[in-house]
Amino acid sequence: MIMNYVKQTVTDVSVKGKRVLLRCDFNVPLDKSTNRITDDNRIIASLPTIRYLLEQGARVIICSHLGRPKGKIVPEMSLLPCAQRLSALLDKYIPLVNDITGEYALKMSESLKNGGVMMLENLRFYPEEEQNDPEFAKKLAALADIYVSDAFGAAHRAHASTAGVAQYLPAYAGLLIDKELSAIGDAINNPKRPFVAILGGSKISDKLGVIRNLLNKADKIIIGGGMAYTFIKARGGSIGNSICDEEKLQYCKEVLDLSLEKGVEILLPEDSRIAAEINAPEFTVAPSGKIPDGLAGFDIGPTAEGMICRIVADAKTIIWNGPMGAFEFAPFSGGTQAVTHCVADSGAITIVGGGDSAAAVRKFGLEHKMTHVSTGGGATLEFMEGRVLPGIACLLDK
Ligand code: ADP
Ligand code: MG
Repeated sequence: MIMNYVKQTVTDVSVKGKRVLLRCDFNVPLDKSTNRITDDNRIIASLPTIRYLLEQGARVIICSHLGRPKGKIVPEMSLLPCAQRLSALLDKYIPLVNDITGEYALKMSESLKNGGVMMLENLRFYPEEEQNDPEFAKKLAALADIYVSDAFGAAHRAHASTAGVAQYLPAYAGLLIDKELSAIGDAINNPKRPFVAILGGSKISDKLGVIRNLLNKADKIIIGGGMAYTFIKARGGSIGNSICDEEKLQYCKEVLDLSLEKGVEILLPEDSRIAAEINAPEFTVAPSGKIPDGLAGFDIGPTAEGMICRIVADAKTIIWNGPMGAFEFAPFSGGTQAVTHCVADSGAITIVGGGDSAAAVRKFGLEHKMTHVSTGGGATLEFMEGRVLPGIACLLDK
């Protein structure tokens, strides 16, 4: 079943004077000692929807989760830093309401003026959130007249605030979700060809489903990063101590066979930058299938870089998920940096997904040259895998 990803958005409904429950993804990283936000990209990404709603005269009730408090009040996981950061960005006081299912929250929501905004405390302080408890969803719904979701990063979860609440309120996509759906959805389902997918990173088991789905869509699939070594071993190569998911060797073999059947090339890096340890100061280059025992591949090699950049230069659509190496370590950042540059310069429609991939693109200063850098991690992968996302499926179809 293909999920319909063409959804009604905030622009398809009159929001003036309406109370809007806006689910955002403010799950930002916080500094452990100071509790300050270390990266506010997710807050920035939701600004267009928030500003749009306020300009239209809506009364906005923002909710989000942060971290994994597991149904208990954990003060370090309060959304207060997010409320404060958003206040500063909007130049507007934003009250944070603690007891989100209580009388006070309801009164606050009813007393909001047009263009007013309030925020609810961390949804996951309540166990009912992750349980998708209908009573809890109903209480959230009671605060508002319509529901808008902009929490793409949480859209693969069927929780009370991401899916349950849509049972009780008309549900629309925010501008961020709309952008995510059209950018990723169209790239995968209606690509300009050649369509090239580049997959890397270290979460092999999470990404095998994506490769399988893309075998039906892409013209070429390039595999690099830590993912590549399980495939290289499955083909009979020696990978030394490189990361490998032993349980997936058979599956990788099947995927390689399937690619031959479908005539979709899967390209593996011919060479690798290898060393004894990930924090080694230097590397040597070796064929990826002939890595000596005691050493491991931590990045694709220069020949692989050249091959990838040639393929990318001819592509019209590129989906990229997962860095080409351990780019956080300077000696092993070369492959990811080279691929970031050639993807940015390709002139193709370029979609980057995955938390670390997005961080890499930002690190190399090329975010603005990509068509779309997704804010989702698991949600982006599941969408690319062709799965139904509960937080999207619950929104009204266009
Ligand atoms: P994303 O978040 O973009 O989906 P992943 O989380 O799957 O990507 O993988 C990113 C991580 O993979 C990075 O921390 C990177 O250091 C690591 N990585 C990439 N290549 C290798 C490798 N060859 N060996 C070990 N770790 C690697
Ligand atoms: Mg990651």
